[in-house]
Amino acid sequence: MNTKLFTEPTETAVTEAAEILRSGGLVAFPTETVYGLGGNGLDPDAARKIYAAKGRPSDNPLIIHVAEIADAERYCITSPLYYKIAEHFMPGPITVIMPKRDCIPYEVTGGLDTVALRIPSHPIAHRLLAEAKIPVAAPSANLSGRPSPTTAAHVITDMMGRINAIIDGGDCDFGVESTIVKIDGKHVTLLRPGAVTLEELRELCGEVAVDPTITEKPAENFIPLAPGMKYRHYAPRAHVTLLDGSHDAVTACLTEAVNHEDIGILCYDDMLPEALTSRSNVITLGKESDPTETAHKLFAALRAFDDMQQVTSILAPLPDKKGIGLAVYNRLIKAAGFDVKKI
Ligand code: AMP
Ligand code: MG
Repeated sequence: MNTKLFTEPTETAVTEAAEILRSGGLVAFPTETVYGLGGNGLDPDAARKIYAAKGRPSDNPLIIHVAEIADAERYCITSPLYYKIAEHFMPGPITVIMPKRDCIPYEVTGGLDTVALRIPSHPIAHRLLAEAKIPVAAPSANLSGRPSPTTAAHVITDMMGRINAIIDGGDCDFGVESTIVKIDGKHVTLLRPGAVTLEELRELCGEVAVDPTITEKPAENFIPLAPGMKYRHYAPRAHVTLLDGSHDAVTACLTEAVNHEDIGILCYDDMLPEALTSRSNVITLGKESDPTETAHKLFAALRAFDDMQQVTSILAPLPDKKGIGLAVYNRLIKAAGFDVKKI
């Protein structure tokens, strides 16, 4: 397939992309979290094309994206809790799961009676959705099993020739996928941490349950809340090990490991002396005190290690779980297959 690359998100580019979506095609577009791979969320064929382009199992549900808070009425059975969350955090990096209406095909929800809904704040995504006038089903625009794309270059690497168009809108702001919450009557459960933090959700909603698989390895006989949760995500080529210890112990371990060419070091700016930080097998994620920057840089770093042929394993400090740090922790611990070494 010939993939059209819109190098500038001009008005005509967005209009053309909206038309592609309306006619059943696939368009990758920037959002404030990661790039999305969109298709018509009312069209089972478009959903099938998304799964095929990503190589994603079709029981892993998609998120539908709409332009306005009130659009949810057409596709979901909403509740006062939806409006409370929506009015506080939307548009923005949060996805809400609610019972679906009949117009949303099971191909989009992975066979579930619920649907995930998000309203991106990114101006290009917003214009695209407003012009398309359909709910746009969009997972992250990466091949299944690869880190989510946070730049158009990442999308080009994974999706060129597999979809109809890509809109280049520059780097994504947050760099980690949306926070996902499930609403059940008056109960809220966090299913995936993101830039809308657990602390913020608790401040607004009171009690918020946390799905244990966010931070802990599921048991062998675990039956997931959503089919998608059984799949391994965010897997770089090299084996990742997270180091759990004092700042000094972790620094000492990384300082020793940096001399091994086959070990990739993923750490904070100030963990190693400058002479070591500039080594080709070291990638830094900003200051340890700034988890927002860490989130922003994380997936690009994991992709960069994928391109270093000599690197067969990666060492990184176990992140803090506060604020957006919980999202970083969750992505890294899954990338590591829960391999944490106490030092
Ligand atoms: P991605 O689009 O790549 O960010 O992944 C979307 C994720 O949203 C999936 O892996 C699911 O875990 C989750 N999801 C989407 N729809 C539902 C749903 N109806 N119930 C539970 N989780 C969902
Ligand atoms: Mg994804």
